[in-house]
Amino acid sequence: MGRRIETLATLIAEQSLDWLIVSEPSNLRWLTDFTGSNAVALCPADPGRSPALLLTDFRYTEQVEAQAPSAWQIEISKHDLLGAGLAEKFPVPDGGGESYGRVGFDSGHVTVAQLEALDKALDGRADLVPVGGILEQLRAVKSAGEVEKIRAAALLADEAMLEVLDQGLVGRTEIELALALELAIRSRGAQELSFPPIVAAGAHGALPHAEPRDIAVEAGELVTFDWGARLDGYCSDCTRTWATGPVGDLETEVYDTVLRAQEEAVEALRPGPSGAEIDRVARGVIEQAGFGENFGHGLGHGVGLDIHEAPKLSRTGDQPLLEGMVVTVEPGIYLPGKCGVRIEDVLVLTADGSEPLNGLDKQFRQVS
Ligand code: ZN
Ligand code: ZN
Repeated sequence: MGRRIETLATLIAEQSLDWLIVSEPSNLRWLTDFTGSNAVALCPADPGRSPALLLTDFRYTEQVEAQAPSAWQIEISKHDLLGAGLAEKFPVPDGGGESYGRVGFDSGHVTVAQLEALDKALDGRADLVPVGGILEQLRAVKSAGEVEKIRAAALLADEAMLEVLDQGLVGRTEIELALALELAIRSRGAQELSFPPIVAAGAHGALPHAEPRDIAVEAGELVTFDWGARLDGYCSDCTRTWATGPVGDLETEVYDTVLRAQEEAVEALRPGPSGAEIDRVARGVIEQAGFGENFGHGLGHGVGLDIHEAPKLSRTGDQPLLEGMVVTVEPGIYLPGKCGVRIEDVLVLTADGSEPLNGLDKQFRQVS
């Protein structure tokens, strides 16, 4: 576990920083295993010389001792952690000098007010440097243990969905179905859903982020479910579209096109290409079928402690993908006033390809 501190230290040193302050909850959890709601970590560029500090408040005294690996020096503070608390516990610089040197903070998560408070508390003794995305970059590549947690969440979410399908869709409202899905997920031991589920029937399916309505699902339309479970801190994310009886040629064509786009993108998914290149594979299939204008979002995203994290599989995903990354592949076609289809799997990148972590089949199926 000290390994994460060591790996992070290398990146801190590469940025010519002496310290990095970590305050975003998912970054903190990943780095320290501590799950309390109030904490700040101070990570040194040279852990051989300076301790890595983990600050929290008295409510978590026992919990932090139980969860954080021994490499962390734990400090309990009565003050604002990202202010007087950190200033009070900041280790005296080598040689007893006045300056703490260059101290990085996460510009993507620290507010202007927090930065001002911290600057004031440190009283000019640190050169506060905005840096972004260091932890996110590390978190993007999962350990084998993290992959198994995401797989367990994904399989739990699959089973919950099968239970809902077994009870039938037609005649139940989108809200009832969302609630049934939540109950099935939580009764299987998940802490919560990864995000509020999407249940969208008929023309409502043309809204990629549709909110469930108090309207019953009818026979002979498409229904899209997008749902996930959070288990042991890790999220799953899956989308399926089913037909509630025979549907028209347009719906069938849209489904076949999305499925082909999804399968070709999954086939192309491997370490090496950028997220943008994989996005282009799916987009090419959909454009060729004449639906290019109707696929308005990116192809996918990383999944882990957060439901949306690095890397991006979209036009702006310029980083090469790496073995161990866990990403979604979720093309969709949305025809306003008519219907929508999205198919999403969550996959781990292996040495030469990818492996799905969820297991529901993708053939166009009728469920009623
Ligand atoms: Zn999703
Ligand atoms: Zn997703």
